[in-house]
Amino acid sequence: MADQENSAPGSQADKPLDFIRQIVTQHQQQGGQRVITRFPPEPNGYLHIGHAKSICLNFGIAQEFSGQCHLRMDDTNPTKEEQEYIQSIQEDVRWLGFDWGQHYYHASDYFAQLYDWAILLIEAGKAYVDDQSAEEIRINRGTLTDPGRNSPFRGRPIQENLELFSAMREGAFPDGSKVLRAKIDMASPNLNLRDPVMYRILHASHPHAGNSWCIYPMYDWAHGQSDWIEGITHSICTLEFENHRPLYDWFVESLIAAGAQVPKVGYRPHQYEFARLELTYTLLSKRKLLELVKSDVVRGWDDPRMPTICGYRRRGYTPQAIRNFVTEVGVGKFNSTIDIGRLENALRDDLNRRASRRMAVLQPIKIIIDNYPENQVEQMEAANNPEDPSAGTRLIPFSREVYIEADDFRETPPPKYFRLAPGQEVRLRSAYWIRCTHVDKDSAGNITAIHCTYDPQTRGGSNPPDGRKVKGTIHWVSAAHAISAEVRLYDHLFTAADPSDVPPGKDWKVNLNPQSETVIAAAKLEPSLNDSPVGTSFQFERLGYFCVDRDSQPSRLVFNRSVSLKDSWAKEQKRK
Ligand code: ATP
Ligand code: MG
Repeated sequence: MADQENSAPGSQADKPLDFIRQIVTQHQQQGGQRVITRFPPEPNGYLHIGHAKSICLNFGIAQEFSGQCHLRMDDTNPTKEEQEYIQSIQEDVRWLGFDWGQHYYHASDYFAQLYDWAILLIEAGKAYVDDQSAEEIRINRGTLTDPGRNSPFRGRPIQENLELFSAMREGAFPDGSKVLRAKIDMASPNLNLRDPVMYRILHASHPHAGNSWCIYPMYDWAHGQSDWIEGITHSICTLEFENHRPLYDWFVESLIAAGAQVPKVGYRPHQYEFARLELTYTLLSKRKLLELVKSDVVRGWDDPRMPTICGYRRRGYTPQAIRNFVTEVGVGKFNSTIDIGRLENALRDDLNRRASRRMAVLQPIKIIIDNYPENQVEQMEAANNPEDPSAGTRLIPFSREVYIEADDFRETPPPKYFRLAPGQEVRLRSAYWIRCTHVDKDSAGNITAIHCTYDPQTRGGSNPPDGRKVKGTIHWVSAAHAISAEVRLYDHLFTAADPSDVPPGKDWKVNLNPQSETVIAAAKLEPSLNDSPVGTSFQFERLGYFCVDRDSQPSRLVFNRSVSLKDSWAKEQKRK
């Protein structure tokens, strides 16, 4: 497989500017600050293809506008977050081809600053300690049609709030007994502004901050202030945060009014929202993906059927294919679901250029070429990649007994069947033309071998001098030289185009595809595939693109099918 291209990841060169890039361009033209974006995952699971869109957008904009992009762990939920996830996030962002340089951060590194700022808001009369239970807070919040009700603790004197908040931080109260809330407006039409919770009590140790805290900030409080501290100019997030923006702004404005100082930054961040990526036959929710992992429905977070970045990597996707796909889908303001076929096509396009061709037989049936000398072996030359002459050629051993795909032979062929059948002639790719003479059968009537003769004048698969034509070309592997391998074929993980469309009363897992994985225990492969390193991609002629799985052993390779070849047979015919 060729090295990755050096072109800028997610290159936008031939695309009109999307609305976010237009905003950034305008900002630059008006002499705005150097662009600083961030990708802020919560380390509570592995990243998925939706995150890839956000990564390509944030890091891509930073590259295109000579700015910088921060990688920030948005780690405010200690009970759901783990070091394993942090490492996987870093690995996946790097693998996609992006680099945060020195700019790696944790929201938890700002806990002390956030705490001080919370005190500032309490002092300004803009935050209070509430003793209501979570349930009471929920009920009193009201609904879209009914205003909320003020908490009986809303009028607490500032001094009392300061003392209680300090005691919360010192661990004086049990989990859930108190919260700190912003004092905004319980009648606001925007529910996010109805005195949102800023802190909750949680006696839990934190994967990054250790045991120093027993109160933890909520997302809305931590996120915008983290942006501000880091000097983010464009805080880009998905549309569901659109009606959090007034709160995002309220916090920054209230802090400025209360005299908060932010070192170095003379401007405030702004939030922009874009449509999240959704794909057909795919669920993009870390919570549900975790459930699949925990219930052993898949082989782990990196199962080749998972829409996680590590799953795609194991499946044989290239970073370039994912970036090309994300660029092609573009950035918009309206949610829509993208056909998963577009992702698969991006992979085909990329692997078509990179992947070496090989021959492999998944459902082998034996051919005996009766007129071929018994102990003779010829080395047949074949191009590694017709799309890339620099990939060179290789030699494939040919001998008297070869395997072909069982499906490439029919004892009673249907009309227009151009592959092998009794009396019919077919080309073995890069080898010889063979004609079927008869078959051997066992006592149950199953075919055990197919007998053929070959035409020595067709060496390399070339046309014979008598002008005879052949319509079919099939792949093969020399039986004496073949290596056996496990091959795993994949289909969509869900049978429903919209997996969240679940019949009433049923669990979302009803839409899982029970046939999403098919394991072929003993496929026959050409010997040059021996010792292929894990992660290498090949095109198996006529079958698709396959990648060496990490379950491979020196004695036994395992391949995953990354994607099938679309219309492989039609294309095959055209090439002749
Ligand atoms: P999930 O809902 O799958 O758990 P999340 O939004 O909770 O994902 P975060 O770790 O909070 O995951 O997301 C990090 C960043 O990735 C956020 O800025 C978020 O907006 C963005 N993001 C998450 N899912 C998508 C998606 N499907 N398409 C585009 N961006 C996404
Ligand atoms: Mg989230």
